[in-house]
Amino acid sequence: MEIQKEEQFLEDIVRVPCPSCGSQLLYTAKGRSLKCQHCGYAESVNNANDKIVEQNLSEAANKVVDFVPEEIGKKVFDCNNCGAKFMVEHDKVKVNCGFCGSSNVNLEAYQHNYIQPIGIVPFYISRDEAEKQFVEWISRGWFHPNSLKKLAKLDGLHGIYIPFWTYDAQTVSDWQGEAGFYYYETKTLRVNGKMQTQQVRKTRWVYRSGNLNHFFDDVLVVASGGLEQREVQKVMPYKLDELVNFDARLMLGWESEVYKLEVDKGYQVADSIMDDRIRNMCSAQLGGDTQRNLKVHSNKSDQTFKHIILPLWICSYNYNGKSFRFLINGQTGKVNGQKPISWIKIAILVFAFVLFIAGVVWLRESGVFR
Ligand SMILES: [Zn+2]
Ligand SMILES: [Zn+2]
Repeated sequence: MEIQKEEQFLEDIVRVPCPSCGSQLLYTAKGRSLKCQHCGYAESVNNANDKIVEQNLSEAANKVVDFVPEEIGKKVFDCNNCGAKFMVEHDKVKVNCGFCGSSNVNLEAYQHNYIQPIGIVPFYISRDEAEKQFVEWISRGWFHPNSLKKLAKLDGLHGIYIPFWTYDAQTVSDWQGEAGFYYYETKTLRVNGKMQTQQVRKTRWVYRSGNLNHFFDDVLVVASGGLEQREVQKVMPYKLDELVNFDARLMLGWESEVYKLEVDKGYQVADSIMDDRIRNMCSAQLGGDTQRNLKVHSNKSDQTFKHIILPLWICSYNYNGKSFRFLINGQTGKVNGQKPISWIKIAILVFAFVLFIAGVVWLRESGVFR
């Protein structure tokens, strides 16, 4: 009885038939709905977020559950080239890695315990919009090779749901340090036999100390195996107030990545992000024109976490044997990427500049400017 109920539940998730024609529904960013590709029927997404609650970090180990990707209509692949683990639809014929563009991917026999996502931001940026952004971005700038535009293939553009951790913590910090204040003294000096006055900058140091209480809300750490924190940071922020309850149906028709960074390792990343921000806040309290010997001591407590899924468009492309990557925030459309530089164009520019300077010098020498 129990099994049958579960099967029914999974059936509902994987196969979401169109109520009007029976075809499979897929999530579409345009209109933010579950849509029938066949007859055009659309069902809007449930925006409820009541299940997105903080979970105690010290009890994280108890939150892991059996996770079988097949149950949400996905298969897990492992990239031999970059090590990313990602999920695609069961019926996808050609699979390549969205993180590095490699087609050297293996189907994983998958049996692992995972912490389930609690919230998701569905894709807001559709494939059409992402393609437009990419073409615009790749044509921008003068220093890039002409052949780049032709080379960047749009089939390398993947819409992938990326796993994240967010952490909260209460922090109490003591700080001490020295604030330096600039002042100027007038000095009279003998320069080449003549007396001259000069302003000399000096620093007056003042010892100060203080304390800071700060609550960190939703420090976002990417749990991806294929992307680094500093890369994803460039397309942040995500608007986390638009998180909705995790619903596997929102992933229908999209790829998704399985988290690789465990919740405790992710916390170490969040911990150093918090330490950096605390140090900046303490530094602001210390004040002065310059500072030295700032020492901060912090205690963190009440750490909580959430496992959430956020949308990202990724395009990996190769140019002259080097791999480059382009990202679009799937919620806000913010763009960031790496582009190869055309050294020939730069050489032409430098040469033109040298010619220009030589020309100016020649005109001066020949008396035209006199
Ligand atoms: Zn239909
Ligand atoms: Zn890869």
